[in-house]
Formats: sequence, structure tokens, C-alpha cells
Amino acid sequence: MLNQAEEKLKEHFGYDDFRKGQKDILEKVFDHQNTMGVMPTGGGKSICYQIPSLLFSGVTLVVSPLISLMKDQVDELQEVGIDSTFINSSLHHEEVRERIDGIRHGIHKLVYVAPERLESAGFLQMLQSLPISLIAVDEAHCLSQWGHDFRPSYLKIPSLIQQLPGQPAVLALTATATPEVTEDICQALSISPKNVVQTGFARENLSFHVVKGMDRDKYIKDYMKRNNRYSGIIYAATRKEVERLHEKLTRLGISVGKYHGGLTTDERRQMQESFVYDETQVMVATNAFGMGINKSNVRFVIHAQMPRNIESYYQEAGRAGRDGEDSECILLFTPQDIRIQQFLIDQSTMADDRKENEYTKLQAIVNYCHTENCLQAYILEYFSDSDIKPCGRCSECVDNRNTVDVTKEAQMVFSCIKRMNERFGKTMVAQVLVGSANKKMKDFSFTKLSTYGLLKDRTQKEVSQFIDYLVASQFLKMSGGNYPVLQLTENTIPVLKGEIKVEKKQAKQTTVLAKQHPLFETLRGLRTSLAKQHQVAPYMVFSDQTLNDLCAKLPETKEDLLEVKGVGQMKVDSYGEHFLQAIAEFLHANPDEKKSFDLPSRLKNYEQKQTDGIGNKKDKTPSFLKTIELFNEGYTIEQICAARNVKYTTIQSHLLQAADDGIAVDFDRLVKPEHIAQIKEVVDQIGLENGMKPIKEALSEEIDYFTIRVFVNDYLVKG
Ligand code: ADP
Ligand code: ZN
Repeated sequence: MLNQAEEKLKEHFGYDDFRKGQKDILEKVFDHQNTMGVMPTGGGKSICYQIPSLLFSGVTLVVSPLISLMKDQVDELQEVGIDSTFINSSLHHEEVRERIDGIRHGIHKLVYVAPERLESAGFLQMLQSLPISLIAVDEAHCLSQWGHDFRPSYLKIPSLIQQLPGQPAVLALTATATPEVTEDICQALSISPKNVVQTGFARENLSFHVVKGMDRDKYIKDYMKRNNRYSGIIYAATRKEVERLHEKLTRLGISVGKYHGGLTTDERRQMQESFVYDETQVMVATNAFGMGINKSNVRFVIHAQMPRNIESYYQEAGRAGRDGEDSECILLFTPQDIRIQQFLIDQSTMADDRKENEYTKLQAIVNYCHTENCLQAYILEYFSDSDIKPCGRCSECVDNRNTVDVTKEAQMVFSCIKRMNERFGKTMVAQVLVGSANKKMKDFSFTKLSTYGLLKDRTQKEVSQFIDYLVASQFLKMSGGNYPVLQLTENTIPVLKGEIKVEKKQAKQTTVLAKQHPLFETLRGLRTSLAKQHQVAPYMVFSDQTLNDLCAKLPETKEDLLEVKGVGQMKVDSYGEHFLQAIAEFLHANPDEKKSFDLPSRLKNYEQKQTDGIGNKKDKTPSFLKTIELFNEGYTIEQICAARNVKYTTIQSHLLQAADDGIAVDFDRLVKPEHIAQIKEVVDQIGLENGMKPIKEALSEEIDYFTIRVFVNDYLVKG
């Protein structure tokens, strides 16, 4: 059946291969085994039930928590030629009847239902009369009390399944599952642990950033200015904050919507639609927003406040870049955020053991904000992923500030905590260390401690931040819920004994998303107008990924079009001509473009042959070696970019890396000798000691960092 499935994948979705996880899941599903799939957002979970629905004789039922998502999914499927429907409380009685008739007559093979529906006896009876082949439970973590989004109505699902005739196969899907949650789901839905298919949690196209100590409003304002064409979401912790930011951004002339629980259902629907349809660029929202959003062209997600745990954060941030294109996830952190979250936990009606659990989760995200190691790796570790390596993209990975030795300061902090018997929180410890005049210092006799005032040349804030860093690095831990106290860990002792050093990076700047191809805006405009005509959301016409691939491949015929990512026959028929015409016009106006992007056959689909699309590499050759191989075969950087679907600057850095490793790279193809001569002149004058920046500034604009690095590498070798 997998072969047939592959044909359907190409026919409807325009993709050549299944990703590895999808294949593993489908094999089990076709074998009618209960299966669980854990894949990150954007990993391609929906295809795991959409394709089977085309091949199974009976109906595929999808239980999905959010009503708004259903209509979008059904519309999106319509666009690729798959007939489906949904049943939820938004429909009238009459409509439900019609749809059920349609299901009976085999018109709709794929049916989305809300879990609440399952509580109705009439509905159950109706289901019992249908041939059901597969039940997919989307967002399956809602089944577990330990999950971050428990929904009581999900508890009905197991008993529903038991009452259905013919034993349909069950497929549970989720993007976030800690081991406890996985166990709960398997238990509830009778899934054998060996049928849990877990792909890595890593999202290769997302770059994570933590920004501390910045004026939030200014940061957001600057970011919007620099990235003013992209769709994005800004999450805030409270309704009030959403309102405030919304008003502020509106006044700045930014096209912005808002979403929170205080709006009416109608208002929320309107806001959501105008965002999905690219009519508003940015959505400011509380965490109430997003579950129902399948919009694939979200280029950034900014958290204006720290969310309550890593699960929520990864799910919310993960709404960026579902189409696989580079996107940014930025968390703006200030220490007050912790107080807000503590307050929310404290106020909640949860039982004490669950509160304790929530505090622990909160501390984990606080540590995320303070770590100086790879942020993606931190998240992967949290989810017990097995394949953890630095991502090379996040704010910590790209941060090449020097580190300084802070062992002595760390020792001071540790011994101070020890002398205070590990019974006090961060503020008190910091006050003792800076020698605060606070009355409590005398009351507790802290002024007599030998560590009192040891760090008096620092501010209390600096010391507090340093303590945060020590906690994030697991030299210290915080325990005890709402008013946590600082304690030493087993990692402290080697530092006190002087056996290991503690290092810390020296302060940070903001980023700009990469530049687009000159044709991109035109295609995007075309997408918007076609979407309007067809009354669907723009991303349903083509994803950003498809637009980028169109720019890279510049197809001229309908056949070429089928080679473009995400273009199946249906899309060629509906939209092909318009896009081909736009591309032809572009090529006419820019006759040189074609040459650099027209890929030789060796390079066509090069990357698809190499990976399964979410970065699970079939072959383990390091990326830069593939680049250098192609480069040495004589391909241009533009061709390699298009073939490998990475940025120009990435290819450049691959080449430099290869040269660093002693591989011969013919840089003469890329740099002009007169530029090299000019750089040499400058370097002879000012030397290399102060880094590249002064060199770059002393040269004319057209000489880029790449050329300077080529020169420097050569210079360091040959002198
Ligand atoms: P999830 O539900 O896991 O968040 P989706 O099912 O929405 O992810 O898929 C995310 C994106 O990946 C969609 O744009 C989808 O078309 C694309 N996709 C899914 N499977 C493949 C595949 N085998 N090859 C290429 N792209 C794929
Ligand atoms: Zn990283």
C-alpha cells in the first residue's frame, strides 16, 4: 500500500517522498495497528491520516480539538483535490444531517469531529452505523493530565472507540509529549510502546532567540520596521497586555490584529480570518490563539513575555515556519515574567502536587532564558530527544562574544548560599553579597557573615542575573514553589574545590530575516489575488516554501512546475498558468536570471534525494562537504543555493569551513584580485588584532565580509 500512498502524495500534495517518520507511521497504520506518532509541528502529521483516508475502504475519523481548524483543513484539502468534511457545534442540525448523508454515500471519506461531539449518544449511534477504518486523534496530549493542555472531553475517546464495530485502527498524533504523557496516551488508546514512532523534535528551519534586558516595546517596534512584510505572531501573557501592544502597533501604522478570550466569538473569528488571509500582517494574542491555525507562512513568533513552560513555548513558537522555510522564534525576557507565572500557578485551583509540577516546569523555562548553551539543544534535552547537537542558528550558537572566567565570583556566591544554610531566595543572597543596607540584613545577622559585601562593586541586579545564570547552568537549583530558595547541587563542589572553571559570556543585538528573491513579492501578490478569487487563504494556494522554490527553479512549462516543491497536478490545473505567466514576464525583464537558476539535471531535486525534508539525513555527509563537492564540480553558488535550498551566505560559510579543514577551494572564482589587493593594504595598516569590523569599515561598501575572510584565511596560512 505504501507505493499507492506515494503516488497519492505526489498527485495531491506534489511531494516526491514521505519523510522517514511518516513512512514508519503509515506502515503500521496500513497494517491496522494502533500507532502513536510524535513529530514536531510542521513535521507532517496530517498527511499520516489524510493519505490513508484515500486508500482505506471505510471512513477516516479525525478527532481534533479546535473547531476553527476544521474549516481551514477542509478548505485546504479541497485545494489539493481531497474531499473531506467536518462535524461540530458550528453547524445547524440540518447541515449535520446532510453531511452525514454524504458520509454514508461515500462522498466524504475523511471526517473531522470535535471531541465534545463524542459525548452525544445520537452521534455515537450514527457513527456505529458507518464503516470506520481509522480514527486519528490529533493533539493527543490533551488526553493526559500531565500534558500541558488537558481536555476532559478527550477522556471519552477510548470508550467511544470501544463501542465502534469493526475495530478501526487508532492513530494518536502530537507534537509535544514527555515520557509520562506518551505513557498515558498509549495506555488510554491501547497502543503498544513499540508502535510509538518518534521523530526528532528538532526544527531545522527555526532559529530561537532569547533577548534579555531590552525595552520590549522598542524591540518589537524595531523588529516590525525591519521585517515589515512578513506574517508573524506576538504572544503576550495577559489580555491587558495584548490590548496595549495592539494599540501601540496600530498607532505605528502596522497592520495588526488582536486575539484573546475577552473578545466575542465573532470578533475572534474575524481577527483570525484576516490573519490567515494575509489581510493583517501581525497578530497580537494571548495563548488562546493558535491551536486552530494551520497558516504555514508565519515567519516569526515573538513572545513579549515568558510563557509558563517549555511545552507551551515550543508549541506556540513552533507555529512559525510550518512550511519549512527559515523563521524566527524570539522570547523577550524580564525577571518580572516569573512573578506573573508564579502568581497564575498560585491562584489556580490545581491540587498541590500538580502545582509543584507546574513550578518545576516554570523553573525549566526560566533556565532556558538564562542558558548560554544552544537553545534548540536545551529544548530537545527537555523532551528527552536522543539526537542532540548544537543547532548553529540560535542566539546562543551564533553569539561569538568572548567568554570570561567567573570562577571566583561563582565561588563567592556558593559559599554565601552555604553560609545562609540554603534557606533563602535569590534576592536575599544577592543583597548579602552586595552588602545591602536593608534592615533584614541586620535582623538575620547576615552582616556578620564573611561573605557579606564580597561583591560590593556590583549592583544587586547584576548579582541576581549572575545567580540566574548559575541556576541555568545547573550549579545551583531553585526549589520550593512560589518562594523558591537557592540550593547547591552536586556540580557546585568541584567549583568550590577549584577543579572546574565557570565561564560566562561577556552583552546583544537584533536580527533581520534573510532577503527575498526579487520575484518573490510579485508571486506573493499574485497568490493573494488568486486566493481572493478562489475564496481561500493565500497559503492554501501555495506555501512560502513553494514560492521560494518557484523563484529558485523558475519553471517555464507545466511539466517543470510539477518539479516544484508542493505543486501537485491539481495546483497546476488551478493556478499553473498564472504563475508561469508571471515567471515568464520576470524572465523577459531579467534575461540574466535564468542562467544562474536553471539547474543542471544533477542538481534537480538534489536535496530531496539527500534528506527526508525535516533534516533526517539519509546520508551523514556533513553539509559543507556536499557543498564543496558541488562547488568543485564547477557549479555556481546560486546553483548550489537553489539545489540545496539554503541561503547564499550559508554556502559561503561552507566554503570557508572547507578551506579551514585544509580542502582546496578555488576562491579565485568568487573574489576579485583587486579587492584582495585593497584588503591587503588595509590589513597591513591596521592589522588583524581588532577583528574584521574595522577592516570592513575601512574598505569600500562592495567588498563583503566573505571576501575579507577569504583573504584573512589565506593570509594566516601564508603570512
Ligand atoms: P503538522 O501537522 O505536523 O504540524 P503538517 O501536516 O501541517 O504538519 O505539515 C507541515 C508542512 O509540511 C505542510 O506544508 C505539508 O504540506 C508539508 N509536508 C508534509 N509532508 C511532506 C513531505 N513528505 N514532503 C514535503 N513536505 C511535506
Ligand atoms: Zn543553537
